[in-house]
Amino acid sequence: MPVLLIHPPAAKPCEPPPGLARLAGALAGAGITCRVWDAGLEGLLYLLRLPLPAQDTWTRRAVKNRQTNLAALRSPAIFDNSDRYSRTVKDISRVLASHAALHGAELTLADYSDNGLSPVCSRDLERAAEQPESNLFYHYFSLRLREMLARNMPRVIGFSINFLSQALTAWAMMGFLRREGCRSAIVLGGGLITSWLRRPGLPQLADGLADHLAAGPGEALLLRLAGCSEACADACLPDYSGFPLDEYFSPGRILPFSAAAGCYWAACSFCPEQAEGNPYRPLPIAAAGAQLRELVRLHKPRLLHLVDNALSPAFLKSMIENPPGAAWYGFARVTPELQDEGFCRQLRESGCVMLQLGLESGDDGVLAQLGKGITAAQSARALSALHRAGIGTYGYLLFGTPSETGESARRTLDFTAANSRYIDFLNLAVFNMPVNAADAASLATGAFYDGDLALYTGFEHPHGWGRSQVRRFLDREFKRHPAIAPILRRDPPFFTSNHAPFFIRP
Ligand code: SF4
Repeated sequence: MPVLLIHPPAAKPCEPPPGLARLAGALAGAGITCRVWDAGLEGLLYLLRLPLPAQDTWTRRAVKNRQTNLAALRSPAIFDNSDRYSRTVKDISRVLASHAALHGAELTLADYSDNGLSPVCSRDLERAAEQPESNLFYHYFSLRLREMLARNMPRVIGFSINFLSQALTAWAMMGFLRREGCRSAIVLGGGLITSWLRRPGLPQLADGLADHLAAGPGEALLLRLAGCSEACADACLPDYSGFPLDEYFSPGRILPFSAAAGCYWAACSFCPEQAEGNPYRPLPIAAAGAQLRELVRLHKPRLLHLVDNALSPAFLKSMIENPPGAAWYGFARVTPELQDEGFCRQLRESGCVMLQLGLESGDDGVLAQLGKGITAAQSARALSALHRAGIGTYGYLLFGTPSETGESARRTLDFTAANSRYIDFLNLAVFNMPVNAADAASLATGAFYDGDLALYTGFEHPHGWGRSQVRRFLDREFKRHPAIAPILRRDPPFFTSNHAPFFIRP
């Protein structure tokens, strides 16, 4: 086995990781044997099987029902009853949290943190590597790694790290590998590593542990390290055959797919993609469509998750012309096409069940300052057209941006209430200023939180509309509005947008 690709714990266990599938496809395309290991999924399944000392009534019930709950979550019927769904998901997460508490850690279905160590502090990552046995997942990953390496020592081991919740365990796994005398070349890649590498003033990272750190697509580097001189072919089909597709926590297979890296718009001032300068690299549209149809033919997914930052209008049109053959959802910008009900109906016929829309604000002045290229009226038209066409809408709002005031935030509240019948789900975020954002240069900035790997910086809000004012407004006014509160209550706990499409009724 020349290459082992690892997706470390912990990450939401609802679908296989698309980055590893893309890498596996590129390696397979070059004739290189590779093994993928979704340790994130397996780590949680392992914890769910372990005995747990009897505790309070809720935990005892959750432990007793854990396998039944897991089976229920993998069945479509539970999505007919949102209360039962919530109870089931919270019970599963309760078991995980109880295991973690015994190790002085916190774990849910969506997050992992170690009480003593911070993933944004390089010294704490080093500590995680020095003491791998302190990691919650140690018993599981040490067994599995020993077993895999005994069978076949890979030439290259790649870690795909996309979330902070994965970093401490990735470092613990690397520390374990080096301690065991593993001489494979270790490569770190994924979204989080890319963000760190594009961050100014990056400290030494994974020194003595990793041999290579990859920003952006890692195919070319992996191919070279695996001994293949061919340039990476973008046209390679992502390879999902090595993932346990029926073991994810979802009611049917979800296949994620990326038609483009970066963003075709790339103009929003608050956006990390923009701040990091990630280039827009779309697959040729015909190739993306052909790959989607082939993946559907091979794996028969219940749902395709298009993970692009924003699906381009040209790509959406291609989905109408050549539907992929399975239901799908993803992020899109509010464009003239989406304000046209006829177009939205065609999208629905192509299989689109839900679109995620970065609405951000209901105030035109704020939207202009953010560089969104949309107005509140256009957003309202798109929400209405999508709703009438039978496509679910998942809206994203952003509060506390430098140009927002209390008055403009209240305009967002009015906008949301006025369009509430067209909004199925809502995500509310308080603005975090990326360390390398252009806006940061003109504002008084300070530490956002401790850690030399922090991706955000604190800033003094120019209108006094700081995080505490924003939070108070959200808690006391926005979330309590009678038209908005029911939308927020609908949000699937932990899995949020990943499971939201299963609740959409055409
Ligand atoms: S559309 Fe989305 S991904 Fe693109 S620049 Fe704006 S916020 Fe970023």
